[in-house]
Amino acid sequence: MRENIKKIAAALASPAYSNLLRCPICMGSMQLRNGQSLVCGSKHSYDLSKRGSVHFLSRPVRTKYEKTLFEARKKVMDSGFFAPVLSHISERINGSRQNRTEPIRLLDAGCGEGSHLSALQQQLSSSSDAVVLAAGLDISKDAIALASKNNGEALWCVADLAHSPFADRSFDFIVNILSPSNYAEFQRLLADTGHVIKVFPGPDYLKELRSLLYSSTNSSHSTSLTRSFYDNLATIERVSEYFEVLGSQRLHYRFLMHQPLIEPFIAMTPLSWGMKESLVQQIKQRLTLEVTVDLTVIIGRR
Ligand SMILES: [Zn+2]
Repeated sequence: MRENIKKIAAALASPAYSNLLRCPICMGSMQLRNGQSLVCGSKHSYDLSKRGSVHFLSRPVRTKYEKTLFEARKKVMDSGFFAPVLSHISERINGSRQNRTEPIRLLDAGCGEGSHLSALQQQLSSSSDAVVLAAGLDISKDAIALASKNNGEALWCVADLAHSPFADRSFDFIVNILSPSNYAEFQRLLADTGHVIKVFPGPDYLKELRSLLYSSTNSSHSTSLTRSFYDNLATIERVSEYFEVLGSQRLHYRFLMHQPLIEPFIAMTPLSWGMKESLVQQIKQRLTLEVTVDLTVIIGRR
């Protein structure tokens, strides 16, 4: 794993990567010093971890998400849980590229433990000859530590999306998957021909788990459907305030899990947090669990 810092340091020494960055404090450009920290003209300095990730937060941020959650999420994502969504996104990226030989500069805003970005990077690299410059941003240090442990080919940053360490117009694609958005910032970060790809849940997302956890719930299905329809419109509307919406696609499929995967699935799902332990245990002991994945992918152009 110590190889990672060398690999990332070598990448950051080249303008292709270092031009993506700017100092989140003074917005000046940054250069790699001694192969181990990024320094701007005003001497703000950000260290690379031994695995090559960069820490941009001036003070640690406590998040409700813990290391165990990200480990659980990686197990579930490795099993292909989001495979149809990620294939759809990489097809859209390939279809939107104007110059097929230029590098693809791709940011995952709110990348978590990096499963989605790593999968996209792999798919895009194998489906074209272009270099994929992949960067992942997350506010959780634990998430980025896991991301850089699993993939030494991307630039992983512990940073706040509201004070991101990236230069203006530095990305061709920004993906934002089930994670909070900052559209003004996405607009600043996207190149003139850049695209934003946002993924958010639909009304049926994990509905089986919801009915297991809230079997006594009174809320009517049609009410939640109506609400979700308007949530959906509101999200599209918000994206269209900043971007030209090129399309939105609903992806709806069932995913069957066997016992070993059920525990990490429960651990990564906020729905189950704070539920009665006996109920959660009952679900974990099931031999199989089939859930619906219902996600909408919106693509917008700057
Ligand atoms: Zn600075």
